[in-house]
Amino acid sequence: MKILLVEDEPKVASFIKKGLEEQAYEVEQAYDGSFGLKLALQNEYDLIILDIILPNMNGLEVCRAIRKKKPLVSILMLTALGATDDKITGLDAGADDYLTKPFEFKELLARIRALTRRVGESGASEKLTIADLEMDLGSKTVTRAGKPVNLTAREFSLLHYLLRNRGRVVSRVDITESVWETSFDTGSNVIDVYINFLRKKIDKGHSGKLIHTLVGMGYVLKEDDA
Ligand code: CA
Repeated sequence: MKILLVEDEPKVASFIKKGLEEQAYEVEQAYDGSFGLKLALQNEYDLIILDIILPNMNGLEVCRAIRKKKPLVSILMLTALGATDDKITGLDAGADDYLTKPFEFKELLARIRALTRRVGESGASEKLTIADLEMDLGSKTVTRAGKPVNLTAREFSLLHYLLRNRGRVVSRVDITESVWETSFDTGSNVIDVYINFLRKKIDKGHSGKLIHTLVGMGYVLKEDDA
């Protein structure tokens, strides 16, 4: 498992690197945004850990630039900012998850495990469908009405979860526990943000909506019966 760590504070960087190497992860480092981006684009990583405040190019810009070329690589943002707006901006820039500094190392490990867990590892050529939407777990691709839908790794995991539970109402807690394998701070609207990302990519421009909100209950993926 190969991880790219983009963090400019030497103490924090070496603490994370040592800890990850003890867990048998292979770690490559960059101390500024532009070098981090260069490495991210030229090499293959299972995960990229990206600080937000970085010299040369900030983490949000780096994240957006990586996403343009590599929609599926997992990106975990580190933020010392703490404000919800900054977290949402991070997710909007294409990060799959975020962790607020200072954090406990075991929390970082839990996030890494969740992000690097392979979706559909067991069934190589398995396909999940609903209406004209198709998810191919082997090639990790999604199409709607035959057209490719580009999803980030986290969006793919969320859609995979909704597809496995199609026709059933799933709560935000179900989604948080199954897709994020963690619990967010109370009041966090991360799930809603991701559902909106998915809606834009899957339902926008199609007459039959697939993602439905049940106020006070959660979400359901089903064919529009209206
Ligand atoms: Ca920093």
